[in-house]
Amino acid sequence: MSREETARARGLRTDYCGELRSKDVGRTVSVCGWVARRREHGEHLAFVDLRDHTGIVQCVVDGGHDLRAEHVVRVTGELRLRPEGTVNDAIPTGEVEVGASEVEILSVAEPPPFSVDGRVEAEEPVRLRYRYVDLRSERMQHNLRVRAEVNAAIRRSMDRQGFVEVETPLLWTPTPEGAREFAIPSRLQPGSFYVLPQSPQIAKQLLMVSGFDRYYQIARCMRDEDLRADRQFEFTQLDLEASFVSQEDVWEMVSDSVLEVARAVTGEEPPPVVTMTWNEALDRFGTDKPDLRFGMELVALEEAVAGTEFKAFQAEAVRAICLEGGAELGRGRLDALTDRARKLGAAGLVWLRVVGGEGQLDLESPVAKFLSTKEKAAVIEATGAGAGDLVLVVAGERAPTCRVLGQLRLDLGQPPVSERPYRFCWVTEFPLFEGVDEEGNPVAAHHPFTMPHPEDLGRLEADPLSVRSQSYDLVLNGWELGSGSIRIHRADIQRRIFALLGISEEEAESRFGFLLGAFRYGAPPHGGFAYGVDRLAAIMAGEESIREVIAFPKTQSGADLMAGSPRSLPASQLQELGLRLAPPKEAKGA
Ligand code: ASP
Repeated sequence: MSREETARARGLRTDYCGELRSKDVGRTVSVCGWVARRREHGEHLAFVDLRDHTGIVQCVVDGGHDLRAEHVVRVTGELRLRPEGTVNDAIPTGEVEVGASEVEILSVAEPPPFSVDGRVEAEEPVRLRYRYVDLRSERMQHNLRVRAEVNAAIRRSMDRQGFVEVETPLLWTPTPEGAREFAIPSRLQPGSFYVLPQSPQIAKQLLMVSGFDRYYQIARCMRDEDLRADRQFEFTQLDLEASFVSQEDVWEMVSDSVLEVARAVTGEEPPPVVTMTWNEALDRFGTDKPDLRFGMELVALEEAVAGTEFKAFQAEAVRAICLEGGAELGRGRLDALTDRARKLGAAGLVWLRVVGGEGQLDLESPVAKFLSTKEKAAVIEATGAGAGDLVLVVAGERAPTCRVLGQLRLDLGQPPVSERPYRFCWVTEFPLFEGVDEEGNPVAAHHPFTMPHPEDLGRLEADPLSVRSQSYDLVLNGWELGSGSIRIHRADIQRRIFALLGISEEEAESRFGFLLGAFRYGAPPHGGFAYGVDRLAAIMAGEESIREVIAFPKTQSGADLMAGSPRSLPASQLQELGLRLAPPKEAKGA
């Protein structure tokens, strides 16, 4: 069947509610859906708004039918123009109505817990408890359809690039992302457990050893982490891996997929994906998640104030941002900004109002007197500030200084995350390690299979914290969508990394033995990436929370209010699994 023919196979109906127009007038139509609203019309007639996933159409029915909100009905009748003066411009079907000759109630509904039209926003717990009703709303229908478009665009791009979709096990074994894992008891081997995968990381690397060349999967990942912020225990990633590739190849492959997504959802050509190193992102935006939709970039003032008498500016880094028109901020706002900078870890915040006219700009501030005329001119020149602007300066160590200003930049200028244009950005050359743990071992910034930068390999043991990795993040409008790396495929380098991380040979063997073992049978150089489909879909749907693009999400406390999970199990089931429950924690010692 062709796509058009499939679309015409409409079962009980001839048309969808939201698609009827004046060109259809005169036809006898059958529409099916839910009663959105009923209004009496004289003594014998009623107006019924019928809703399906395409929209609403007005039906004029015999007042004798007991049609209540959310009843499911099929209405048949002639489509006609609405009488003069009753056209409703607010809906696409507003010119027409179905003059019902036949009404069939397909199922009756109890009064809904909240109205589906969204005119009154229901509380989230109620929406989640009755998610099947909530999902009928225009908003949720739209969101989940956007998500489906995202998936379809990803698959198109992957397919076009020769990627093979392979499913990997959900009942799996620990993977190296480092989050807490969900464990599943084995019935056939009591006392043994499966682990739900935090990602298909090891499986996809094995597929490279198996010669699949390019793998992808729209994969479920499970991490038993506290649901801070906008997280879910289970989330969806586009997961991919490719052999004989450089970092640049991986960036191109992934970029193709996200640009295809943006194109599919917006119908517009998105701006190309930008690439910058982690160092550059820190210097220019004060973060490894730069939002490129607006300026206010950080400016280095070390040269402008070199040799200054002003104590506060005698620091490794003196950085600034310039807020256009900010000179008008009153003392209250400026004090609040200073407080904010301190809370973010700065020693203080220097604010400088730019005053004066063209060619004779000056800086006004309680500390301006500590700066020489030359220094003030150099600051104005470096920041490119004009009259009426506000320059905010933080001084101290480079990284924390940049981060404070990066956050102030967001506080003062960031549009809502989902606001277009969509500016994708690669952040590259991350440090291989992020600090050291309590035992003094460096901590892997990505995961332990990440290949160090070839130029830095020699310094691995001598100066590990200065080593860059071949790992990279993809950022969209200030949001980290995902990360990936070129992997270590050589046993000698892997051994050095494990040694640095304090992972003993036995531990490595017991945790990742089968991967290391596979590498002994011919491992191609390979690398890959994974990005969060929930977040991408949320941004594309214009939603703040990923729960709005997940059909059946859990609450912040990890509960499914509809299905009632997690829940206790009958004793017989526990016994079969060889499990006995410890007394609840509060009861201990009571
Ligand atoms: N497995 C990694 C993650 O889930 C991504 C990757 O390195 O491909 O974050």
